[in-house]
Amino acid sequence: MGVPLSQMWTVASYVVGQKLRGNKRYPLVLMLEPLFRCNLACAGCGKIQYPAHILKRELSVDQCLGAVDECGAPMVSIPGGEPLLHPDIGEIVEKLIQRKKYIYLCTNAILLKKKLEEGLFKPSKYLTFSVHMDGLEEHHDFAVCREGTYEKAYKGIKLAVDMGFRVTTNTTLFDGADPNAVRSFFDEMMDLGVEGMMVSPGYAYPKAPDQKSFLRERTRTTDLFKMILSNRKKRWIFNQSPLFLEFLMGKREYECTPWGNPTFNIFGWQKPCYLVQDGYVDSFAELMEQTDWDSWGRASGNPACQQCMVHCGYEPSAVDHTFSSVGGLWGTVKAMLSSGYSSPQAAKELDEAKAKPHGPLAQLGVTIEGKPLEKGAAEPIEAA
Ligand code: SF4
Ligand code: SF4
Repeated sequence: MGVPLSQMWTVASYVVGQKLRGNKRYPLVLMLEPLFRCNLACAGCGKIQYPAHILKRELSVDQCLGAVDECGAPMVSIPGGEPLLHPDIGEIVEKLIQRKKYIYLCTNAILLKKKLEEGLFKPSKYLTFSVHMDGLEEHHDFAVCREGTYEKAYKGIKLAVDMGFRVTTNTTLFDGADPNAVRSFFDEMMDLGVEGMMVSPGYAYPKAPDQKSFLRERTRTTDLFKMILSNRKKRWIFNQSPLFLEFLMGKREYECTPWGNPTFNIFGWQKPCYLVQDGYVDSFAELMEQTDWDSWGRASGNPACQQCMVHCGYEPSAVDHTFSSVGGLWGTVKAMLSSGYSSPQAAKELDEAKAKPHGPLAQLGVTIEGKPLEKGAAEPIEAA
């Protein structure tokens, strides 16, 4: 099962409505961060490094609903921290469903099975669990820095699927990722019965403990995604704009749309985007009016944006393209009808990648003997 038609229709009619009203800047997905604390401490995380008194704080139900109403986006993504740690997450979700918002509840799924067994949520076309899965078991447990996490998440997903919930996976890829293993992971997730998968390169958060593993060069990002997403299997379903996936494969150029996924958390509305904190304002209107949007995105020359290809900045660009030109619409239809992306060159590179070092040791930049990797073989990238 893919994205329900009702969701496609809601998003399409919302975007067309914004276009007809002449709104150049409009939000597509509200990133609602109800808390920053988490039950994991992933090395690539840029959200959990706050002092304890901040990690203890959370948004109230009223603050969450106020932000959703103020913003007006048809979709609400609830990342964190770990939203299942919020004491009122059941009520927040229930009230958003009443508002007919399409919710992506982003979770590491450690608590998912327990919360489902407690009956905290009911299946709804408006609610999707977007489960953080960074690859097959060994890779995922390494990426999240705790053994046994994959197994817990796997069981949580299985139960959610069996109970009739919508479930997607949400995978962040870092330097040294094994493209063949990622493809096997896609098979495993589709076997598990998820509705679709989402992929994105990680953002080089300056606060994240592991700086070596970020994909800091665009060509390295596109080379990796070309290997992974070319010669695509028919059974793989992605819960993402096909044009965004083409962007990751280096087939399209987009400029970032930072206002597409505005972020609200305990500090207020975050300028300018989900990834970068350049101050906060009290209202969504202030965010839209007071942010110097021209200072952000690749074309601005801002160093924080040069290598970024993350979904929260570029997926809204791809969706806007679909609805703003015949070329964008045709490109989307074409991608949906013939999504194989046959490429003998990518198949060759994928095959060659089997002989290269990947996985945890490659991410650490060492061989199994503890020696530095040879140049060009998933070499470690120095921290900026
Ligand atoms: S699960 Fe998510 S929020 Fe928690 S530490 Fe990992 S990346 Fe950060
Ligand atoms: S390019 Fe990335 S970091 Fe820069 S504004 Fe866009 S989403 Fe944020």
